[in-house]
Amino acid sequence: MEKIGVAVLGATGSVGQRFVQLLAEHPWFELRVLTGSERRVGREYGETCRWILSEPMPEAARKIRVVPTEPGSVDASLVFSALPSDVARVKEPLFASAGMGVCTNAGAFRREVDVPILLPEVNADHIELVGRQRAARGWKGFIVTNPNCTSTGMTIALKALQDAFGLDTIFAVSMQAVSGAGYPGVPSMDILDNVIPFISNEEEKVEWEPRKMLGRLGAEGVEPADFRISVQTNRVAVSDGHLVCLAVKFRNRVSPEDAIAALSAYELPAPCVDLPSRPQPVVRVRTESDRPQPRLDRMSGAGMTTVVGRVRRDPVLDLRMVVLSHNTIRGAAGGSIFNAELLFRAGLLPEPS
Ligand code: NAP
Repeated sequence: MEKIGVAVLGATGSVGQRFVQLLAEHPWFELRVLTGSERRVGREYGETCRWILSEPMPEAARKIRVVPTEPGSVDASLVFSALPSDVARVKEPLFASAGMGVCTNAGAFRREVDVPILLPEVNADHIELVGRQRAARGWKGFIVTNPNCTSTGMTIALKALQDAFGLDTIFAVSMQAVSGAGYPGVPSMDILDNVIPFISNEEEKVEWEPRKMLGRLGAEGVEPADFRISVQTNRVAVSDGHLVCLAVKFRNRVSPEDAIAALSAYELPAPCVDLPSRPQPVVRVRTESDRPQPRLDRMSGAGMTTVVGRVRRDPVLDLRMVVLSHNTIRGAAGGSIFNAELLFRAGLLPEPS
């Protein structure tokens, strides 16, 4: 098959670089266009981008000249956005109305009733919103979001548990890697030897997004799932990989063994089973007493698998556990690419012009 030409918006940042790295070998998509802020425009990517990943910069990307983040400069039917949220709020609709599919990491449109927050493992059926969005807005293109990187892993684990036992109440405490704050992100003098118990606007997002993703699609949009959830978020001195400690009360009785069985057995929905970026497995349960750990477990399933450990009884609620997810792969660029694969398979990508 001829590959689909794609662009990355905001290609020089923490998530943009991850897109460039993951798209280099993609079997369906070919990276053709890179955009950046004004100071990058006209320069070769290899010269202007301060590459921060341990994998080398793909050779094919090195010579691409960075263009403005404007639809007229981008010759692609599919764009991946790694723009800051305030920039995305203005730019992404311009691309969608110009007929391009936008798969975005930014939070700007996650709350809109006709915009899905998509995790193929969890709510592949929510892609139906793309048709409603096109009809309501008169776009040939679309905007499909993926969740905040902290919502991602915990929502995948919670989906397996919701299906099996029903969810009633959740307490979550995160330990989030510095790459989640973008590049250059948190000053080293603030984070070394330290934990920062505040991430701006994060707790609100992580308390709301899982309820939309785990909600039911109805005529008026997504009806949010009705469990209660309380979240505290922290920045820690880890490079990649967000940990979330969960305590959960269920609607039905559940033992740690039941929960481990449900998590381990959780499978991809049918439309996703052979997509190139599918996690293999969706959830890996670690039984060692001191796992998961970011450094040891974040690359599980090429960074797409959600790792769960320390599943045990909780003396206040029912069970507690620890969830780990790679924030710039499953929680950002890899997740967006996985979404685009599902949209392509469903015939929802715009035709190249
Ligand atoms: P980042 O490192 O700050 O990168 C932002 C990118 O956008 C850079 O390429 C930057 O270019 C570009 N940019 C900034 N202002 C622009 C403008 N006015 N016009 C065009 N381009 C502009 O941020 P990030 O961590 O990659 O995050 C990107 C998005 O993904 C954010 O919305 C974030 O909330 C979301 N997200 C991040 C993660 C994560 O783990 N990091 C996870 C999920 C979602 P310059 O290099 O020239 O500044």
